[in-house]
Amino acid sequence: MAGVLVCVEQVGGKIAAITRELLGKGRALADALGGPLAAAVVGSEAGDLANQAVALGADTVYVVTDAALATYTTDGYVAAAKAIAAQAQPALVLAGASFQMRDFGAALAADLNAGLAADATDITVAGGQISAVRPSHGGNVINTLTFAAGRPAVVLARKQSFPEATEQAGRSGSIQNVAMPATSVRTKVVSVAPKSGAVNLADASVIVSGGRGLGNKDNYFKLIPPLAAALGAAYGASRAVVDDGWVPYEHQVGQTGKTVSPKLYVACGISGAIQHLAGMRTSRSIVAINKDPDAPIFRVATYGLVGDVNEVLPLLTEQLKARLG
Ligand code: FAD
Repeated sequence: MAGVLVCVEQVGGKIAAITRELLGKGRALADALGGPLAAAVVGSEAGDLANQAVALGADTVYVVTDAALATYTTDGYVAAAKAIAAQAQPALVLAGASFQMRDFGAALAADLNAGLAADATDITVAGGQISAVRPSHGGNVINTLTFAAGRPAVVLARKQSFPEATEQAGRSGSIQNVAMPATSVRTKVVSVAPKSGAVNLADASVIVSGGRGLGNKDNYFKLIPPLAAALGAAYGASRAVVDDGWVPYEHQVGQTGKTVSPKLYVACGISGAIQHLAGMRTSRSIVAINKDPDAPIFRVATYGLVGDVNEVLPLLTEQLKARLG
């Protein structure tokens, strides 16, 4: 076993941002392990993904295409990835910590008899030993998991934990087709029904969230979506707001809502209860606006503004609109 295998995710035929992050981090980890950086492309068709992965740093791309892989199923995708792992013999398998990849990663780790770290925010190699950093207990405990030698490790990384790899034009690598194992794919996807109007907070690089300090639903909608629009952001909420029926549950950030890690998180009228922090404290920059200077949110904030949301937010929105167009 040597090197790193990155499981490729795609969006509209392009390598997804999380995979670009993993290829960047994977390159450094593969070098530290003294092995190659490989990528796994699995689906009904591969399109241009293998070439894109090479340009982003993969030495070898293993491709499994099969009609049975048109839609994600645990058994189909794990069987394909297992066949790739048998050829690549990686010491470390990396994938994103998305809803789907958590299902995939856990099943793959079980099949490979590998150790698993889900939701990692950092991965290191020291003296050939692989470790993953993973927040737990709502982000209040940071665990470092060290993998036993002699078995592969599967690590699912939280989005926006690493810088994205940049494309290197003219880079060459090997692309190898791997046959889909003759395993029966027992799962049958009958239909896929996207939820209309669903918000994808997990993918947003900027989030503006509102809490009970907004006062009421009308005020939330008067102040939060315009600020979010000015920043090109998605908008979220504390549980207090969701429980009061101001916005649907899919906007909730926190222990019992979404875990997000955007580049910028703007918390407006949110106290910063531990359960809210659990879902957003790993954001790269946190801006907190609260009229109480002792609000706990200020303890995790990169920038804090003590003030009334009713005064601050319209001014902020107006200034951002003027400056960002
Ligand atoms: P509050 O705590 O009421 O805070 C409102 C804040 O607004 C205050 O800090 C106040 O100073 C400020 N404010 C008031 N007026 C203004 C103004 N005009 N201008 C500026 N600031 C103002 N919570 C979550 O968010 N997500 C979760 O996933 C979650 N899961 C939970 C799970 C469990 C098991 C439990 C027990 C609780 C959970 N909670 C969760 C609830 C959490 O404990 C808090 O009750 C909740 O986060 C509080 O929401 P809030 O900050 O909007 O409201």
